Amino acid sequence: MEHVVVVGSSLAGLRACETLRQEGYEGAVTLVGAETEVPYDRPPLSKKVLAGEWDAERIRLRKPDDFASLGLTLRFGVRATGLRTDERTLALNDGTSLQYDGLVIATGASPRRLPGQPALDGVVELRTLSDSLDLRDHIADGTARVVVIGAGFIGLEVAATARQKGCSVTVLEGAPSPLIRGLGSEMGIAVAGVHGRNGVDLRCGVGVKAVEGDGTRVTGVRLADESLVPADVVVVGVGVAPATEWLDDSGLALRDGIVCDPTLNVGVPGVYAAGDCARWPNGMFFGHDDAEMRVEHWTNAAEQGAAAARNLVLTSRGEEPVPYESVPFFWSDQFDSRVQFVGRVHGGDDVHVFAGSTDGAFAALYGWEGRLRGVLGVSMPKMVMPFRALLARKAGWDEALAKAAELTA
Ligand SMILES: Cc1cc2nc3c(=O)[nH]c(=O)nc-3n(C[C@H](O)[C@H](O)[C@H](O)COP(=O)(O)OP(=O)(O)OC[C@H]3O[C@@H](n4cnc5c(N)ncnc54)[C@H](O)[C@@H]3O)c2cc1C
Repeated sequence: MEHVVVVGSSLAGLRACETLRQEGYEGAVTLVGAETEVPYDRPPLSKKVLAGEWDAERIRLRKPDDFASLGLTLRFGVRATGLRTDERTLALNDGTSLQYDGLVIATGASPRRLPGQPALDGVVELRTLSDSLDLRDHIADGTARVVVIGAGFIGLEVAATARQKGCSVTVLEGAPSPLIRGLGSEMGIAVAGVHGRNGVDLRCGVGVKAVEGDGTRVTGVRLADESLVPADVVVVGVGVAPATEWLDDSGLALRDGIVCDPTLNVGVPGVYAAGDCARWPNGMFFGHDDAEMRVEHWTNAAEQGAAAARNLVLTSRGEEPVPYESVPFFWSDQFDSRVQFVGRVHGGDDVHVFAGSTDGAFAALYGWEGRLRGVLGVSMPKMVMPFRALLARKAGWDEALAKAAELTA
């Protein structure tokens, strides 16, 4: 293997490049990235950067010297447009192409848009640094009327930050409760309670008909019942889709993500995927109907970028690749709440609050079919991580209850 190409210059791509070197690969590495910035961290984009407390420099994932020491050829501001696995070539949107011996695909995800979403000043999505700096300008003086469409984690983080800047904030969610996908209905309501306590107008079960404007600027959001919610800024936070459209003609299997085997291989020798764009069977959940998953969390992108690169190096040496198995983990900061979740929500889980109270700090177990599936903590960090090992060995519900009793004794 003489030339490895990594597509996607964010967290998973960076970790892949670092791991190639750590594993002793000394050949050429080209890092292709649609963005022009050196790799930066996205979680602060809805938190400290958006609040104006951190500048762009602070969220670089590596110091310039450390990044330079990887000896990469950088192709930033360039987008991959096609892949020919039979010829081992990657086409780029500047008309050039790259030949590779090994490839790691880490193109992440892009925000979904509303049907018919108008291109008006003040209508924004949040994925990139420039999105965050743009939104920051809109909310900086605290006078804007902000409407957030979608009560998922990013939407609610933006709502909290804008409210803390002094803006009036309305969140519109079509589902009957907030954070359903991430936490399920009951705990979604409990976690989002902090918004009501801080003056955010959170409305669930609301249909959005259209985002309206005066031809230039946004003026408000028209609801299904024809009422208008006036707005100076509308943040569209309706989830993300894996950035795989450039692979449509590649022959790779795509199903809400690039379909991988347990080792993150995409079904072609020498080609691996990692991060928000990858779908793989996670052995940690074998035996359950949702073992094949795509995860949109920071920790997963970092771990998978490393695992994909390691397996690429191992197979190039004729060694066996290692399945990537992991218990997902994520966090979210909203007002003074630090939300942490380890595991995976199934839907219809048994939820048992074992510490604190749901109107403030608390912790809860999630179980399904007699097995522990997840643990949620709100401002209770010590109550979450001890369960990761139990989840990893597929512990039963009774063992989880015993651990909860031990932690709260
Ligand atoms: C505002 C925000 C807040 C977040 N907060 C949290 C949090 O609190 N906790 C948590 O666990 N997770 C959080 N996340 C999620 C976390 O940041 C992501 O899971 C992580 O960034 C995924 O990394 P990735 O490298 O897989 O993909 P991405 O970060 O999406 O990077 C993919 C890169 O590939 C590039 N690319 C795409 N297509 C192409 C192409 N065709 N050619 C070349 N380059 C391409 C993109 O431009 C991008 O730079 C947050 C995300 C956002 C946006």
